[in-house]
Amino acid sequence: MIDDQDTGRALPERGVPADRVLRELRGLREGDRPTHGGRLFAYVYDPAVPGLDELAAAAHAGSAHVNGLDPTAFPSLLAMENALVGAAARLLGGGPGTTAPDVVGSVTSGGTESLILAVKAARDARPDVAAPRIAVPVTAHAAFAKAARYLRVALDPVPVDPATLRPSAADVAAAIRPDTVLVACSAPSYAHGVVDPVAEIAGVAATAGVRCHVDACFGGWTLPWLRRLGAPVPPFDFAVDGVTSISVDLHKYAYAPKGVSVLLHRDPGLRAPQYFAYADWPGYTMVNPVIASTRSGGPIAAAYATLRHLGEDGYLRLAAATRDAVAGLADAVRGTDGLRLMAEPESTVVCFTSADPGLDLFVLVDELTVRGWHTQPQLAYGELPASVHLTVTASVAPRVAEFGPDLADAVAAARAAGPVELPAELTALAATLTPDALTPELVAGLAAGLGLGGPVSGGPVSGGPGVPGADGGAGAGGAVPDRTAMVNALLNAAPPALRERLLVEFVGLLQRPTY
Ligand SMILES: *Cc1c(COP(=O)(O)O)cnc(C)c1O
Repeated sequence: MIDDQDTGRALPERGVPADRVLRELRGLREGDRPTHGGRLFAYVYDPAVPGLDELAAAAHAGSAHVNGLDPTAFPSLLAMENALVGAAARLLGGGPGTTAPDVVGSVTSGGTESLILAVKAARDARPDVAAPRIAVPVTAHAAFAKAARYLRVALDPVPVDPATLRPSAADVAAAIRPDTVLVACSAPSYAHGVVDPVAEIAGVAATAGVRCHVDACFGGWTLPWLRRLGAPVPPFDFAVDGVTSISVDLHKYAYAPKGVSVLLHRDPGLRAPQYFAYADWPGYTMVNPVIASTRSGGPIAAAYATLRHLGEDGYLRLAAATRDAVAGLADAVRGTDGLRLMAEPESTVVCFTSADPGLDLFVLVDELTVRGWHTQPQLAYGELPASVHLTVTASVAPRVAEFGPDLADAVAAARAAGPVELPAELTALAATLTPDALTPELVAGLAAGLGLGGPVSGGPVSGGPGVPGADGGAGAGGAVPDRTAMVNALLNAAPPALRERLLVEFVGLLQRPTY
């Protein structure tokens, strides 16, 4: 028997038997949001295909110790990566017989890495530019901002039309300067699921002689199937002249386990500056296509197994189920007084806002959580109101009929509860505080006052239990409260720079070692 003091320690004095370790892990996982069951509308992508988890897990385990550092030592990984890149290229308008026959690519750890590398390749292709810039719509994924900060590239935001949520090619053209090395757009945007006018944007980029990246991390593996099913998907891939690179996440709608995205370039010359090679040290000469050096083969093998098992017929079937689920959820929103769709769904996102001051979206999110539906609140930004985001996957299809009545119930409850009323001093604080004025004491006081102590990733706080056994430290109780509306209301009242600082401070309180 292991004494109970040892529970939860990563390094116990005496090793713990395997079956007990697995039991403990299962216990830990019980506190998580449900990854299956079609009621979690963010973070996870579930096709609800029997046996797929087991297949992916077996493939993962078989290659977990294989190292992607050196493709000559582990040709299995090279073969799987080349096959994944080929599949993505073919799906996205490249490969033999297309107008983009020379597409090449890399397998990365996720969308963020794909975008950082797209920006790095564009930056390093232009050593003549001393202070490189990128032009990116404000609706594009935050990972572009991350890339810009990491790589010290200036970010020129392109506004979007508050009605269509799309940037115009004219505004993109206006944002392009002599030092612009990359223009980006989304197909579709994560927040609203809206496809940017890729052809027009790529056109102005090409005219200016600037690379154009299409961020299809979210939709690259659904839009092609939706198009084959008859949806009016506008051109967004390598069939569009001027598109120089595309990212697509396999750990999203290809339904592979986490850790796999693909970054494609129209030709090998465009990809070349993405590589890092180094021979100026006494160790092994290094050549890395991606950010990591040692990389597990597990996620790559799992993605390969997933694609081969599902096949084109499988993805078509899953896209049809997802499309029907999207239509059902959108109908439920349309049929609910006080809610308004941010955009007519054109991919796999349903995003809505409140059209009634008496209906507080953040309270609604909590009421939906209580009813077992985990949605993602999005804060107000510029002219865009706060909204609720639903990432819809195939697993949602069998649940759709239950959503409408629960949504109506939740809306009634949220109306009855009324909007969150932040204490006046908090509202004043949020509106006037500068990030630099935040002291550790103030943060701890705020966190304690808000009952904070759980995961707050994903921007706004979206509820759910915290990590069991994690002691949040000063002012944190080890779990996020079931009711998160107050925290979201506070963040919503703060300008972006203060939101960022508060999130860093709150999450920093959670991430403390346990002993
Ligand atoms: C998810 C997403 C990303 C970032 O991908 P991660 O895998 O979370 O790093 C980038 N762009 C879009 C459009 C996305 O949906």
